[in-house]
Amino acid sequence: MAQHFDYIAIGGGSGGIASANRAAMRGAKVALIEAKHLGGTCVNVGCVPKKAMWHGAQVAEAIKLYAPDYGFDVELKNFDWAKLVESREAYIGRIHQGYNNYLAKNGVTVINGFAKFVDNRTIEVNGEQYTADHINITVGGRPTIPNIPGAEHGIDSNGFFELKEQPRRVAVVGAGYIAVELAGVLHSLGTETHLFVRKHAPLRNFDPILVETLTEVMEKEGPTLHTHATPKSVTKEEDGSVTLHLENGESYTVDTLIWAIGREPMTDLINLAATDVETTPSGHIKVDEWQNTTAKGIYALGDIMDGGIELTPVAVKAGRMLAERLFNPELPNAKMDYDLVPTVVFSHPPIGTIGLTEPEAEEKYGKDNIKVYTSTFAAMYTAVTQHRQPCRMKLVCAGKEEKIVGLHGIGFAVDEMIQGFAVAMKMGATKADFDSVVAIHPTGSEEFVTMR
Ligand code: FAD
Ligand code: NAD
Repeated sequence: MAQHFDYIAIGGGSGGIASANRAAMRGAKVALIEAKHLGGTCVNVGCVPKKAMWHGAQVAEAIKLYAPDYGFDVELKNFDWAKLVESREAYIGRIHQGYNNYLAKNGVTVINGFAKFVDNRTIEVNGEQYTADHINITVGGRPTIPNIPGAEHGIDSNGFFELKEQPRRVAVVGAGYIAVELAGVLHSLGTETHLFVRKHAPLRNFDPILVETLTEVMEKEGPTLHTHATPKSVTKEEDGSVTLHLENGESYTVDTLIWAIGREPMTDLINLAATDVETTPSGHIKVDEWQNTTAKGIYALGDIMDGGIELTPVAVKAGRMLAERLFNPELPNAKMDYDLVPTVVFSHPPIGTIGLTEPEAEEKYGKDNIKVYTSTFAAMYTAVTQHRQPCRMKLVCAGKEEKIVGLHGIGFAVDEMIQGFAVAMKMGATKADFDSVVAIHPTGSEEFVTMR
């Protein structure tokens, strides 16, 4: 007979774990089904290992670019990629342990295996059946590989995290977060890195001040940026290297080719046909603003939902809100607010952004109804050295009251600056509110409250 639960989350990633823990804390009998490793994309092949590599890159930059002018006579004898990977994976192991402990403490039953639907209420894992009143689909996504000859000779972001040795020459294809972050890390750690984007720049949808500054820094310092570069095919050479052939006739031979051209939802493998859940042609699950799918009692959130934002804290928050709505009688209308989600790209230098870009604000409010403030300076950390790095910031304000509708920054430590500003923007802050705050000196973040 099938084991019955109040709530089952399929997928033990960011959204699944958060919702399972919260549902159990509210008294529900909960199961969490995970096919691979607890923590999902973020912990195992996403945010966490990426950030560890990014920190490694920061150490490399500190030694190579800044240490001499701070008076350190450092001789860099060796960089041991395998050591960095070992430290990273040990850290991830400790996160797994923490998740296991916390799920056990909350009484969540963790089932290891790949789940498939049998019907709207029933799931099968490893030949066993489980039923639930509420089923949450949080199976996330996988990297997309282009449909061109020889694409299989490249790896994806998962493959990047499996690299045991540092590649000497790498081509990264893509213009989004992952392409920019991986290319930046590889370049800073000493790999000859080429970034191939199909249009004029990476991160095209970000505010122009961010795109222009990132491109300027890349052109000056690397990785080598190849614009208007559309992949046509890939060939494998006798010595094991791979050659990327572009539509424009150019070819580049490298040791490792990384596809970073986006991700697709993992909804094709879970037998959704046995349910009333509807998907879009891309495979994303249709949901309403309460994460309800088209099947009663089945919900979806995180990377697999249609129209979502593919970020860990978004999946986490949506998961917790859903659990509150279902199992906390005091919050029967709890739901995720997808507005003004702050985000950081761990590029070189890092980017932080909240709300509308300047072009988006112009379109929404009209050019005459927005006012833009900008600031450009060299972050002090770099200004005392010969290796200057630009820091640029922008506030996009709307209406007579100059409500801050967009906040953007690129530069040293911007990644750690913007969280608090997101709180202010959520509260409806205006330029006058920003101006009323006393600056913290000397910091980079003070520029956000002193722009003229
Ligand atoms: P996931 O975390 O992908 O979890 C889904 C889980 O479901 C997986 O563990 C999978 O094994 C499991 N699963 C799938 N099918 C089944 C099945 N049938 N049965 C059982 N289990 C199943 N976001 C940020 O906010 N900050 C970052 O810095 C950041 N960096 C990233 C870097 C990279 C390289 C990548 C790829 C992503 C990054 N992201 C980042 C995005 C973030 O990882 C995702 O938005 C987030 O993990 C989505 O959570 P989720 O719960 O929807 O899915
Ligand atoms: P993305 O959608 O951000 O970018 C994919 C890029 O690949 C686009 O610029 C697209 O133009 C390009 N592209 C698509 N098809 C192509 C092709 N055939 N050839 C060449 N280029 C092609 O996807 P991503 O970088 O894979 O990241 C997925 C999501 O994960 C992001 O949107 C983001 O939400 C999340 N993420 C977040 C962080 C972070 O928070 N720091 C880091 C990594 C990923």
